[in-house]
Parts: sequence; structure tokens; C-alpha cells
Amino acid sequence: MPNRSFYHEILTEHNLHPMHKHPLPEANVVLDGVNPSCGDEITLQLRLEEGKILEGAFVGEGCAISQASVDIMLDQIIGQDIEFARRRLRLFLRMIQGEADEAEIEELEEASALRDISHMPARVKCAVLGWHTLEEALDKV
Ligand code: ZN
Repeated sequence: MPNRSFYHEILTEHNLHPMHKHPLPEANVVLDGVNPSCGDEITLQLRLEEGKILEGAFVGEGCAISQASVDIMLDQIIGQDIEFARRRLRLFLRMIQGEADEAEIEELEEASALRDISHMPARVKCAVLGWHTLEEALDKV
């Protein structure tokens, strides 16, 4: 299992240099997500076609965890089909609830950097904001 500073580096990198934080005018699914308990706000923008997530981006503001988590999520789902994204989403939520085993956590790649959040109840809503917004967005399709 990688050590804590490795996880910290992943989160810092996604927070300081988010690859997917930009407007996406071609998006055909756009949904706001808000976490009032911390003040995190995001707008998730996806371009979906024939069951695939062709493009994805977000804009918004919030704490480091909320912003890094949505950037990592987009990294993993862009170019994938919706079913893959749903599986990833369920797995991530299981990890955050402390229910995923080591093999499952490993499958989450960089998102596993958020594994310790399961022990920090106050930060859970920050970590899941982007993923819950994704879930809602996919349910609208
Ligand atoms: Zn937050």
C-alpha cells in the first residue's frame, strides 16, 4: 500500500493543476453540485453520446478535497462508457463508506488517495460531491 505522503501528493497535484477544470461549451449534460456544510460548489459538464462519456469538465470553487476529487473522477471516466462510470462510482462510494477491500481500493487508481476520508466524517461530503453529481447527471440521461 502506498504511503500517506504519496496520497497527499496526488491530491495536491490535482488541486493545484486540475486538468479538467474549464468550461465545456459542447457539454450536453450540465449539473450543479453543492455541499453547503463546507461551501463547495461545482458545475459538472459532460458530453455524452451513444452511452459514452466523450468529454467532461467542471468549474467551481471549494476546498482542496472537493476539487481534487472531481478532477480525479473526470480523469477516470472521460472516454469510458456510462456503465464503466457507474461501476467506478459505486466502488468509490463503497471505499468512502469504508466497505471496500484492498483489491477494490486498488482498482480505483488515483481515487484511492481519498481512502482515509472514510475516517473523517466531516470531509465525506467534500469527497463525494463530484461523484454524487455525476450519479445524478447519469440518471438524467
Ligand atoms: Zn469541502
